[in-house]
This record gives sequence, structure tokens and C-alpha cells, in this order.
Amino acid sequence: MRKLQSITVLGHKIKIEYKTWSDGQFGSCDPDNKLIKLSHACLDDDELHWATLTHEVMHMIMWLTGISFMERNDEEVYVRCFENLVLPWIEENSYRR
Ligand SMILES: [Zn+2]
Repeated sequence: MRKLQSITVLGHKIKIEYKTWSDGQFGSCDPDNKLIKLSHACLDDDELHWATLTHEVMHMIMWLTGISFMERNDEEVYVRCFENLVLPWIEENSYRR
């Protein structure tokens, strides 16, 4: 997988950087700086790269919607729900369209 420089999320240019976390984390999302960071480990694994990018983009979208600003923010739960349940269901059933 070649390094991405930037992506577009709903019309917003998002910078992509790569780093290595000491705790083995795969990605992070910094909406205030329109920045997503991915682990160097993602560069060796296309599936991991895509999964992590998708996960962090969902955080970016949550921020754009304002959900991130709720007083009690359970955003991670929603992201994991979409990541692990909604997206796989859509993918498995896309032939129905
Ligand atoms: Zn997350």
C-alpha cells in the first residue's frame, strides 16, 4: 500500500500522516486539524489500511455532524456499530440493489 497524502471526506480535505504508536494503536482522528494518522503497520496490510482508514473517517464524519460535541460522547460505540455491523451487512447485501 502506497502512503496516502490526503483524502476528501464530504468535501473536506483531510490530511493523512503515518506514525508508529508504542501501544500498537492503528489510527487516530484529529478533526480540529483535519488530520487522520495511520500506523506504519497499515502500509504492510491493505485490509488493515482500509479498515483503519474507514474507522477514522467515521470519527471525522461524527465530528462533522456535531455528535462529537455531545456532552456525553459515546462516539466510539457508534463507530464500532457501523464498522462491525452496518458496513458488513451493506457489503454482503449489495447484490440486492
Ligand atoms: Zn475509534
